[in-house]
Amino acid sequence: MSTDLDKDSAVADYLRGTCISLEQGISAVHGDDAVGLENDIEFCSILDDKVFCCEGCGWWCGMDEIATDNVSGFICDECGDPEDE
Ligand SMILES: [Zn+2]
Repeated sequence: MSTDLDKDSAVADYLRGTCISLEQGISAVHGDDAVGLENDIEFCSILDDKVFCCEGCGWWCGMDEIATDNVSGFICDECGDPEDE
């Protein structure tokens, strides 16, 4: 399987700031023939470098928005803020 790195980045850019599923993002960028791309290791590693799906709110956030204080896993700044109940 050959993947287009620019298009993989496009999926990350598309997902960021949304709460759609990974599959929806892939089909929006690549079309419906990209079924299974979410299981492609190379694709996932590119995606993981750019965005993550927050375990708290379910929104896709950039890696620069990941919370690092007092939390573990993929939690965004907003969900990781202890004052934000
Ligand atoms: Zn969150």
